[in-house]
Amino acid sequence: MRISLAELELHRVQASETFAPGALDFPEFRQTAPLNINVNAELLGTEIRIQGDLATRLEANCDRCLGPVEIPVKQHFDLFYRPMQTIATEEDVEIPEDEMEVGFYTGDGIELADVATEQVILSVPMKVICGEECRGLCPVCGANRNVKPCNCAPPQHDSPFASLKKE
Ligand SMILES: [Zn+2]
Ligand SMILES: [Zn+2]
Repeated sequence: MRISLAELELHRVQASETFAPGALDFPEFRQTAPLNINVNAELLGTEIRIQGDLATRLEANCDRCLGPVEIPVKQHFDLFYRPMQTIATEEDVEIPEDEMEVGFYTGDGIELADVATEQVILSVPMKVICGEECRGLCPVCGANRNVKPCNCAPPQHDSPFASLKKE
């Protein structure tokens, strides 16, 4: 669904859409439940303000053991989109850091799918782990140490305590 500039010039726009798993493209994780997004959009000067929320479930691989991790996503957002042309014509435009929520739109509006994809990616932590206690994979034999401890010796280091152990 497209939130069109022409319509926003007349009135606020309320929109909602559901994206089935696979409808949106997430490189790092799998969507395991339908994604619902609800937005309120309005035009402020030339900026489009989009407020709303979305919810879905994702699955990713644990950073340590590569096992599947469920990630419930509930994201509330309040975004401002500026027309791309203002950037192209004014060369010295710098976006202050406190305006990180500012995006850009081109053409005649904004795709709800783009807003949803962007917000989902922002909501997911950089490092996904299945739990603080995850032991990860053995660096020697590659076994999942959560499932079964292996008997590999830890990698050899010149530990300052190595000599203490012999005494
Ligand atoms: Zn893990
Ligand atoms: Zn091992």
